[in-house]
Amino acid sequence: TPEALRAALARVQRLDQRHHMHPFTDPRALVQAPPFVMDAAQGCYVMGQGLRLLDAMAGLGCVNIGYGRPELAEVAAETMKQMSFYHSFAGVTNPPAAELAARIAALAPGALNRVFFANSGSEANETAIKLINLYWRRRGQPGRRLLISRDFAYHGSTVATSALNGLTAMHKPFGIRTVGHVAHVASPFWYRFGGDLTPEEFGKRAADAIEHKIMEVGPQNVAAVFAEPIQCTLGAIIPPESYWPRVEAICRKHEILLVADEVVTGFGRTGRWFAQETFGFQADLMTLAKGLSSGYQPISALVMSDDFSDVIGEQSEVLQHGFTTSAHPVATAVALKNLQILEEEKLVTRIADDIGPYFAARLTTLEQHPLVGEVRVSGLIAGIEIAEDKASRRQYPVDLGVDQLVGQAALARGLIVRPAGNVLVLCPPFVISRAEVDFIVDALAEALDQIH
Ligand code: PLP
Repeated sequence: TPEALRAALARVQRLDQRHHMHPFTDPRALVQAPPFVMDAAQGCYVMGQGLRLLDAMAGLGCVNIGYGRPELAEVAAETMKQMSFYHSFAGVTNPPAAELAARIAALAPGALNRVFFANSGSEANETAIKLINLYWRRRGQPGRRLLISRDFAYHGSTVATSALNGLTAMHKPFGIRTVGHVAHVASPFWYRFGGDLTPEEFGKRAADAIEHKIMEVGPQNVAAVFAEPIQCTLGAIIPPESYWPRVEAICRKHEILLVADEVVTGFGRTGRWFAQETFGFQADLMTLAKGLSSGYQPISALVMSDDFSDVIGEQSEVLQHGFTTSAHPVATAVALKNLQILEEEKLVTRIADDIGPYFAARLTTLEQHPLVGEVRVSGLIAGIEIAEDKASRRQYPVDLGVDQLVGQAALARGLIVRPAGNVLVLCPPFVISRAEVDFIVDALAEALDQIH
C-alpha cells in the first residue's frame, strides 16, 4: 500500500540520517533534508522515490554496460556458490583472477602486461605510488621521490592519493601535507587558461610546464608524472592533441615514470579501449577501476610494463603490500563477464563509429546557448562550460553555483548530470540510445533556458 511504502521510505531516511556518514556530502545538509533514496536501476535509468531518472553520469562514470544486466548477476551468484572467497596472498590464485589478469594484459597497450588487483581507484593509485618508490630503490635511485601531478587532478581519497589531487579542499582540511611529496603543475585546460594561444600551442606550453618543474627540482629527484588522460572529475578537461605526445617525450628524456590514471577513461570511454590509444602515448603504469566491472563489483587494477615489473621482481623479497580482497574471485569473475559483454556487443567501436559522433554532434548544438562557452567531447565523455560572457570566456563566481542550478533544473526534467564548478560533466552508459541522447540535449537546453 502507499502508506506502507511511505513508512518504509521514512524508516530508511531516518536510519540513514542518524547513522550513515556519506562520502563527499555536507553532514549538516543531511540533518536538515533527508537523503534521496535510490533503490532500483535498469539500462540507463535509476529509480527512487517514485522518480525515474536518465543517468547521464553512469553512476560515477562506471556503469558502462548499463544497469541491471542479469548475466553479471548470474556470474556473481555462480562464483559465490563455487568459491565465495579465498585470498591471493603467498602464491595462491583463483581461475577468474588469472583469466582477468591475462585479459587486461591482452587489451592494454604496449608492454603493460602485469596486473596487481585492488578494490578501488584510490587503492590502485596508492599501490602505484608505493611500487614506484620501491622501483627507484631497486634501481639505486632512492632520491627519486617527487610525484608531479596537475591542477584539477583527481586521483583518489586515500592519504597519498588525495595529496595528488588538484584541489586543496581535498587535502587541506585533513592536514595532509603535499610538500616534498607532490608538485602540482598547470592543467592542459585550454578553454580557461589558453588565452590567445591556439589549442596546439597551448598544449605544448602545458606539457612544457612539466619539464620546467622537472628542471626546477632536478630530474634526479622526480619519480613519476601522474595524470588522467582526460581530467574527468573536475571538469572533463580534454587536452589539445599536442599535449600527450610531448608529455611522454619529456618523461622519456628525463627517465621519469609516466602513470596514466585511466580509472574513468579505461575500457572504452573515449572510443578506444584506452585513452592512451586515443591520444597517442604510452605509459609505464596504468590504473583502472570503474569500467573494469562497470561498477557491479568493487575492483581495480594497477597494470605495469614488463620493464617495471621486472625491476620489482628481480630481487627475492616478499612484496609487503596488498589487500585481503585483492583479486577477489567474485569481483574478477564479474569483471571478466563485463569485458566479454563489451567485446561481444562491440560497445567500444559503437562509441567510435556511431553513438560517440552522434553524442558530440547533438551536444555541441548547445554551444549556441548564451550560457554555454564551450562543449568538449571525447567519445562518451563531455564537459559543458558555463560562461557568464562567452566572448571573453568570463566565468560566474563559483560560489554562485550556476552549474548547480542548471544541474537541479536538469534533474527536475529527469536527467542526471554532474556540476563540477562552472562545468557540467556527462559520461553516460555505453548502451545509450540516440533517443536518449536527444532527451539529454533537450533537457539540458530547457534547463539552461530556465536558469538564463
Ligand atoms: N582516479 C580517477 C581519475 C577518478 O576519477 C577516481 C574516482 O572518481 C579515482 C581515481 C578514485 O577512484 P575510487 O573512487 O574508486 O577510489
